[in-house]
Amino acid sequence: MPEAGRQRLFFALWPGAGVRRRVSELARRHTPPRGRRVAESKLHLTLAFLGEADDELRCCAEAAAGVVGGEAFTLELDRIGHFRRARVLWLGAETAPPALAGLHARLIARLARDCGRPVETRRFRPHVTLARKVGRARPRSLDEPVAWPVTDFVLVASRLTPEGARYRIVRRWKLDGGQAPAVLPRGRLWDNRGL
Ligand code: ATP
Ligand code: MG
Repeated sequence: MPEAGRQRLFFALWPGAGVRRRVSELARRHTPPRGRRVAESKLHLTLAFLGEADDELRCCAEAAAGVVGGEAFTLELDRIGHFRRARVLWLGAETAPPALAGLHARLIARLARDCGRPVETRRFRPHVTLARKVGRARPRSLDEPVAWPVTDFVLVASRLTPEGARYRIVRRWKLDGGQAPAVLPRGRLWDNRGL
């Protein structure tokens, strides 16, 4: 049993039913025979992985997410790719919209500054994992991209079970154009009137 109050947490974009169905259809079409497809209900795009978190870290992360802000945007999923080491087949975007890159950057900066996590040094490669245990796959551009209207982001709790991860959406934040305050160095006094 995990210690009470501890959860494995991550921030993600969680597609609605229509996008989910289309992505799942692509997974069906492109996963090679021995690959293990991700269940339709589990498809998502990870923004920031926090890992094991106690209540204090979860509260901190929720507060951080609350001030990140940002605008809704459309994500054109137009590319199938493969992470060789991770043996993952994914669906992603040829070029990530600046709104997504900005959301990710603001979120991880705020989390790192206020909560000390995540300590992520890899480049952000936004993707939806379609299938695992995929040894090889040829990357390709899609003639008919999936247009994903992104209007919010979520905090998800993940429980690892022998049957795979189980996800639960903990909380949701709207992307409604609210101005995000700049991330200032820790310890500086700043004027937040007008936020
Ligand atoms: P499983 O671990 O059973 O394969 P999973 O990877 O979907 O399932 P988690 O391990 O809880 O479930 O991960 C949740 C999400 O966070 C996934 O999208 C995963 O790719 C991503 N993730 C996991 N570990 C990291 C990490 N160290 N850095 C960045 N993202 C991660
Ligand atoms: Mg994992």
